[in-house]
Amino acid sequence: MGHPLINDQIEMLRPAVARLKVRSAVTLLVAVCLSMVAIVIWEAWSSRLYHLHDKQVVMSNLAQTLASQAQATIKQADTLLFTLVDRLEHDGVDQSRLPALLNAQRSELSQLHGLFVFDEKGQWLANSNGAGQTGVNNSDREYFIFHRDNPSRGPHIGPSIKSRSSGEWILTVSRRLNHPDGSFAGVALATIYLTHFLQLYDSIDMGSNGVITLIADNASIVIRRPFKESDIGSSLAKSPLFTQLLPKSDAGTATITSVIDGVERVTGYRRVEGYPLIVFAALNKDEVLASWRKETLLSAGIVTLLLSVLGGLGFRLIKLMKQQNLVQVELLDTQDKLLEVNRNLEGLALKDALTGLANRRQLDAFIDAEMGRARRSQSELALLMIDVDHFKPFNDRYGHPAGDECLRKVGAIITDNIKRPGDLAARYGGEEFAVVLPGNDYVGAFLVAEKIRRAVLQAEIAHSDSPEGAVTVSVGVCASNGASQVRSEDLIAAADKALYVAKASGRNMSVIAN
Ligand code: GH3
Ligand code: MG
Ligand code: MG
Repeated sequence: MGHPLINDQIEMLRPAVARLKVRSAVTLLVAVCLSMVAIVIWEAWSSRLYHLHDKQVVMSNLAQTLASQAQATIKQADTLLFTLVDRLEHDGVDQSRLPALLNAQRSELSQLHGLFVFDEKGQWLANSNGAGQTGVNNSDREYFIFHRDNPSRGPHIGPSIKSRSSGEWILTVSRRLNHPDGSFAGVALATIYLTHFLQLYDSIDMGSNGVITLIADNASIVIRRPFKESDIGSSLAKSPLFTQLLPKSDAGTATITSVIDGVERVTGYRRVEGYPLIVFAALNKDEVLASWRKETLLSAGIVTLLLSVLGGLGFRLIKLMKQQNLVQVELLDTQDKLLEVNRNLEGLALKDALTGLANRRQLDAFIDAEMGRARRSQSELALLMIDVDHFKPFNDRYGHPAGDECLRKVGAIITDNIKRPGDLAARYGGEEFAVVLPGNDYVGAFLVAEKIRRAVLQAEIAHSDSPEGAVTVSVGVCASNGASQVRSEDLIAAADKALYVAKASGRNMSVIAN
């Protein structure tokens, strides 16, 4: 079981260790809960980024596809115009055959609303939609003014307009006609149904609040899904698309807030190759994040549930640990008290209550043990029997309490005069004391006996019924040389006999047994 002192220290450390355990449990619990929360937040954040990034890629791809579609649609019409201009300028087509030619060409392409030729005054020379409306003047249209004032031979795309011939929303692609001398001869015009774009845009699932916009280079809207007449032609010059994105790159993705409806969107955009147009596709950010939000709420809910279960269990565990510690402390307390009581009981069992010397029981055990040891080591063992002289008269004269006090004093004097740690002084009974002196022979024991006798006399405890006028003691001295046949009773009897001789010889003396 180890050294008792170390055991005591371990006992003392136990409550501190228990407190440390509770603290560690609390720390562990808090750490686990915090890490769970941190993981969920991190998960949610990266999942949000992933959702947004994913849709940006989708929008970028969509913008790319729609830009190709716009480019192909316009290119087809422009190719017709190019060949038409070439034929008009070089071959000179018969005016009466022109409408039929235009009509034949127009019917080749479903997106074409019409093909028109104007002279230098803006008069309709021919159109693909029948001869009936010939004679209308279009010199006020943007494309006419552009080509009249601009010698360039390339295609020109004008702003979206409502057709004068059919009342439908159209996009114009036009080229300039020249006289052989290079002067302005008129305009060849192809008009494209905006519904051709709109039908495609509407067929794409963009959620309830998604947007696809075809925008001219000058920032005016050509067509926008969802369709609203008032949007056509309105300017996006102040939108982040024109202020931030397009100046940096011809294609890209971003999350921006619309200047039209104030909605934040995940967007992709791209310039149409070869034409001054931009395609812009955008999904409502709230809608993009709706599924993410649902997922996050679900996992947050599950984690909250787990945390509360974990917290509850942890709380109970810690409470139990604390209770256990309390019980342990109380047990240790009780153990201490029991040990104390035990020690007292042991003391009571071995000590004489009046004098504090060893009692008869301890004396008997001690003599037995010492006799055994003396036998084994062939050493000496001496015993003194000390009896107070004329004690009955002392009691009678001074009273029993004074008698007790006298016994205490004699006991103290005896203790004071045996200095070796191996010696034992005991109250044998009544006014009789015994001293065991291991390792002493007759001579040494007699010297101790005399020392005690003189010390009692010199203490001058008044006793008027004694011949000396003070309390005295008689001592019987005996010693054994460790011979095996001697028993403890023999030793006591021998000392008693010597004491009797001392009494008979006049008291206040020490006598050695023979
Ligand atoms: P002697 O000189 O021959 O020894 O005479 P004595 O009177 O001392 O011897 P005796 O045996 O006649 O008397 C012993 C007395 O000691 C009797 C008893 O009253 C007293 N006595 C014994 N134990 C105690 C005690 O514990 N306290 C007190 N006050 N007196 C005690
Ligand atoms: Mg006696
Ligand atoms: Mg006596």
